[in-house]
Amino acid sequence: MRRKIIAGNWKMNKTPSEAIKLVEELKPLVDNEAVDVVFCVPAIDIVPVVKACEGSTIQVGAENMYFEESGAYTGEISPAMLVDAGVRYVILGHSERRDYFKETSEDVNRKMKKAIEHGITPIMCCGESLEQREQGITLDWIRQQVKVGYQGIAAADAAKTVIAYEPIWAIGTGRTATTEQAEEVCGAIRQCIAEIYDEATAESIRIQYGGSVNAANAAELFAQPDIDGGLVGGASLKADFGKIVNYDR
Ligand code: PEP
Repeated sequence: MRRKIIAGNWKMNKTPSEAIKLVEELKPLVDNEAVDVVFCVPAIDIVPVVKACEGSTIQVGAENMYFEESGAYTGEISPAMLVDAGVRYVILGHSERRDYFKETSEDVNRKMKKAIEHGITPIMCCGESLEQREQGITLDWIRQQVKVGYQGIAAADAAKTVIAYEPIWAIGTGRTATTEQAEEVCGAIRQCIAEIYDEATAESIRIQYGGSVNAANAAELFAQPDIDGGLVGGASLKADFGKIVNYDR
């Protein structure tokens, strides 16, 4: 039985002092011992958020990371910096990074390997555009993103990672994928992992759905056999996130 994982992606929101206030507001609301709760926050908020989360079950994640150890990479954040600051998870290959910052699946693969090497759990995002869905190439596209993302990663490591299926047309649009659409792709991702590795790895890996998840649709989405939780953008910045985490109550 896979444990659900519900992660908030704060994106480029909240100054350090605003971040502390939000954690204090959400802390009593996001207590569900059946779920791993992760706040993925902007780099500058990591240290104060880790401190503010002390004594709670909330785990802190980063929204990105570089694939080199250290050196002349102005503006980048290394895996060792994240680990030292108390980060346990890192979102890699979010569609906003792929679109705006031209990250490729090969970049994502290098970051995946580095995160794993440092004991950080990657949440690898994949997802199709509306155009790709309309062209009927969704599953081919997602399979390709997953295959490249996991290239050279051992089964035992892959089993502990998280994949977030996020249709680009559903991110921040209020237009959620239907439960059937979300389950179909999450099931295909699990199948792809079984083909790359084996059934045991596919059964272990956790697959989230992301794209306009809210308090009203979370329970139905998370009840699907291949959906092990959610990656939540907009609604993770509000008290609603508590209702999403407690979707089963
Ligand atoms: C996201 O940014 O990963 C996301 C899913 O955003 P939203 O929930 O706002 O659609």
